[in-house]
Amino acid sequence: NDAVRVESLYKTYENGVTALDGVSARFASGTFTAVMGPSGSGKSTLLQCAAGLDLPTAGRVFIGGAELTATKDTARTKFRRSRVGFVFQDYNLLPSLTVEQNVLLPLRLAGKRRPANARQILDRLGLGDRTHELPERLSGGQRQRVAVARALVTEPAVVFADEPTGALDLRSAREVLGLLRAVVHEYGRTVVMVTHDPVAAAHADAVLFLADGRLAGSMAHPSADAVAE
Ligand code: ADP
Ligand code: ADP
Repeated sequence: NDAVRVESLYKTYENGVTALDGVSARFASGTFTAVMGPSGSGKSTLLQCAAGLDLPTAGRVFIGGAELTATKDTARTKFRRSRVGFVFQDYNLLPSLTVEQNVLLPLRLAGKRRPANARQILDRLGLGDRTHELPERLSGGQRQRVAVARALVTEPAVVFADEPTGALDLRSAREVLGLLRAVVHEYGRTVVMVTHDPVAAAHADAVLFLADGRLAGSMAHPSADAVAE
């Protein structure tokens, strides 16, 4: 039961750089996986291709058993909006929308109605009293919690997070990582997180290592010390 499967992914950018050189991997439902590797090893490219934000040059991506790479542009956007959540390092919240409007945006884009449990989602994430604030009034950690709430609101098969703690102080980073763990272990979601931080990676159930656009290893139940080696 894989939430995400990528098969022989290759990605060569227009400038001739090959960022992915044949990556195959599976991400089981209900697991939290960290993706690590040196700068330039292809981590972001892997996430972008797996999430349908970019297309691989060759290879296939399956989300919840359906092939994302087989869909055309418009259908792919729709597919992505309903089945995939994405959390970015810099939050990517819309500054003119309130916390609640930001969280509900994916549903509006998908043409869905406001869920009856919108309030509970925000409460659960500790944002219940900030719902009508603009993002600029929130701390970095709070903003990232809003971004996590937004990524979850469509109940996607998988949430991809690219350096979600990269801009946060230690305490906020731990809060957001604890939240991602809870999302996986209490709500059965699937999270794939790119990070260069061994402490962040230690919150995951497993780590995949990339080097030069290829899978270079993996580790189950990582500890920060083992990952930092
Ligand atoms: P990482 O996330 O591990 O740092 P990336 O996936 O961002 O790695 O980048 C992998 C390689 O692809 C790097 O050499 C990078 O310079 C290159 N690259 C990334 N994005 C682009 C792009 N849009 N156009 C051209 N080259 C890119
Ligand atoms: P939660 O709030 O979900 O319980 P924690 O912050 O307690 O999350 O961390 C969960 C797991 O992540 C711990 O059991 C431990 O394995 C790992 N972990 C957390 N912080 C660190 C750290 N500083 N160094 C190494 N591993 C850590």
